[in-house]
Amino acid sequence: MSRNPISQPARIAPLAVLPVFYRLSGKKVLVIGATRSATWKAELLASTGAHVTVIAPLADPALAEIRSRDDMRIAHLARDWQEGDLADVAIVVADVADEVEAGRLSSYARKAGVPINIVDRPAFCDFQFGSIVNRSPLVVGISTDGAVPVFGQAIRTRIEMLLPAGFQKWAEAARNWRPLVQARDLSLQARREIWDRFVGAAFRKPDHVPDETDRAAFLASIDQQAETPPQGSVTLVGAGPGDPELLTLKAVRALQSADVILHDDLVSQDVLDFARREAERIITGKRGHRPSCKQDDINALMVSLAREGKRVVRLKGGDPLIFGRAGEEIAACRAAGIPVEVIPGITAASGAAASLEVSLTHRDHARRLQYITAHARNGKLPDDLDWKALADPAATTAIYMGKLVVGQVSSNLLAAGMAPDTPAIIVEYATHARERRFHTTIAEMGSVFAAQELDGPCIILLGWAMSEAAP
Ligand code: SAH
Repeated sequence: MSRNPISQPARIAPLAVLPVFYRLSGKKVLVIGATRSATWKAELLASTGAHVTVIAPLADPALAEIRSRDDMRIAHLARDWQEGDLADVAIVVADVADEVEAGRLSSYARKAGVPINIVDRPAFCDFQFGSIVNRSPLVVGISTDGAVPVFGQAIRTRIEMLLPAGFQKWAEAARNWRPLVQARDLSLQARREIWDRFVGAAFRKPDHVPDETDRAAFLASIDQQAETPPQGSVTLVGAGPGDPELLTLKAVRALQSADVILHDDLVSQDVLDFARREAERIITGKRGHRPSCKQDDINALMVSLAREGKRVVRLKGGDPLIFGRAGEEIAACRAAGIPVEVIPGITAASGAAASLEVSLTHRDHARRLQYITAHARNGKLPDDLDWKALADPAATTAIYMGKLVVGQVSSNLLAAGMAPDTPAIIVEYATHARERRFHTTIAEMGSVFAAQELDGPCIILLGWAMSEAAP
């Protein structure tokens, strides 16, 4: 199977500023000015373990209090700054009175090769301070590149709420336990497995301070990885109909820990954006009338990747267990002795019904719900469909892959005695931003496809329950 297109992760969009996390511990930094802002910056910088020198003719009274704390290394020089102060410092932060002084200072800093930040004067800044969520050693920085700092602060508050305080302890534990992993000769993947398990534990017990028991469990997971090298696996994951918010939490987790992702071309880019950046992506397009990979090739590829020890995610549109040939893929894995797991997804019919705000079942209109494929092995309408059941006036039918044969479906339903005015709704690109919906009847539905250019995947929902759909 040589012609598998590899889909790359989306290229990164233009980045206003580069978020980097700069270790300042033990380095000399300079703060110029005695304003509140300057003092706060001195405190912030000193909290990283930097040796801070504040230069200002008069000191801010608050500075004395901060300086008195044991953990703060802040010196104060009561005088004006001069060019020589910029020698040998890692960074400089200043709050100065006017533009002229700011210009002078920034040109000296540039000459000395020292990155500078001047409070409230973005034009003179090499770097900016973002909003900070501090769970050190876990640190989150937020920037709006000066566009709207208040927004950044509001986002910070959200993240504060989202990040349990206990994560600080887990991150600390990770730092302390890291040498235990490094001391062993483990493959990259074994290490990943160990840390994945660690992260799982942290998420399960976010407010618990990791203790001896957790450390023992961690050690045990290292031993286990050392004894049994990581085994590849296959996870069939439902990508849902398109809207990435319809992914399950499990699906996101699987995407985040995948080594390789084999995906249909139906799967939207927005969904793929949830995948681990390093994961290799392979498109196994299987769309009706396009050139595609053979199912046997897909099975073979899946198995061989898992045999290499990789965590393979087989990502399928909608629910993997509905018209996705999952049975064959599961069988291939079982035959090869590869562990396989299935994560369900939201099927196109459910996504479309949700968009239409309509119930697929209804006490008065529909006591049966049937999903059918209108696409047989030869690409034609299957000849063994139960037309009597499909024409049942008390059923809702969701037709998958019906685009090319809708006219024939329509005449067969009419021939089976279904009322011509039975509602039918066609939903193209259900739940995507470009979703389109067409309300019609079973008699007229063929003409909708004739009149409209429907390039995207389409699902047809028919039956009297559809009479209650949002217009
Ligand atoms: N496993 C998928 C179905 C795969 S068969 C699921 O559970 O949804 C492919 C067919 O599904 C398409 O031909 C189309 O009929 C339907 N389909 C998939 N995604 C769709 C979407 N976003 N909108 C409309 N129909 C969709």
